[in-house]
Amino acid sequence: RSLVVAMDGPSGTGKSSVSRRLATRLSARYLDTGAMYRVATLQVLRAGIDPADSAAVIAAVTDMPLRIGTDPESELIELDGDDVRAEIRGPEVTAAVSAVSAVPEVREQLVALQREIAVSAGRVVVEGRDIGTTVLPDADAKIYLTASAQARAHRRNQQNIAEGRGDDYAGVLADVERRDRLDSTRAVSPLRRAEDAVQVDTSELTMDETIDELYREVAR
Ligand code: C5P
Repeated sequence: RSLVVAMDGPSGTGKSSVSRRLATRLSARYLDTGAMYRVATLQVLRAGIDPADSAAVIAAVTDMPLRIGTDPESELIELDGDDVRAEIRGPEVTAAVSAVSAVPEVREQLVALQREIAVSAGRVVVEGRDIGTTVLPDADAKIYLTASAQARAHRRNQQNIAEGRGDDYAGVLADVERRDRLDSTRAVSPLRRAEDAVQVDTSELTMDETIDELYREVAR
C-alpha cells in the first residue's frame, strides 16, 4: 500500500537516522533531499563556479548527472558516475550548500525531481526542510522533529568525537545557536513546520523511543 511520510526539521535532531530507521520499519523507501542539495553544490564547486553567481549555478545544476538511491539500508549517491557520499558531507560543500539551495530555480528543479522519486517509490519517507509544506503537501503523514539547542549540540559533539574531530561542547553549542539565529532571520530559509505536521521533540528521547513514537503516529 502506498504511504508517503514527510519528515522535516533542523539538523541535529537525529532526523536522518530516524528517517532511515522509520523507513526500514515501514518497509518503505527513503529519500534524503539534503543530499540532493549537497550534490548540486558539489557540481557547482567542481565546475569552479562562485556559489553566489546564480545564473552560472542554475546552468551547472540543470540536467546534472545525479543518481540517488532510495534503499534505507544502503546509501547510493553518485555524480557523473562517482560515488560522492563522503565528499558531499565535507566542509567545502557544507559551507556552500546554503547559497546554492537559496537559488529558487535550483529548488524548483530539485523539488520536481523529489516529487517524481516519491511518486514512483509509492511507499516512502522523504526527509528535508520543506517536504510537508512544499514538496509533498498531500503527504499521508507529516512529522516535524525538534530538539533543544543543547541536545543538538550534544549530539553533534558526540559525532565529532566519534569521527576524530575532538571534543568541544561549548564551541559546538555556540555554533548551533549562531546558526539558529541566522536561520530565523533569513527570509529564504526553507525550514517551516506544516500546520498539519505532528511536532516531536527528541531532546529527551533515545533513538528507539523516537522511532516507536513516530511509528505509532504514522501507522495509526
Ligand atoms: O539535511 P542536510 O544538512 O544534509 O541539508 C543540507 C542543506 O541543504 C541544508 O542546510 C539546507 O540549506 C539545504 N536543504 C534545503 N531543503 C531541503 C533539504 C536541505 O534547502 N529540503
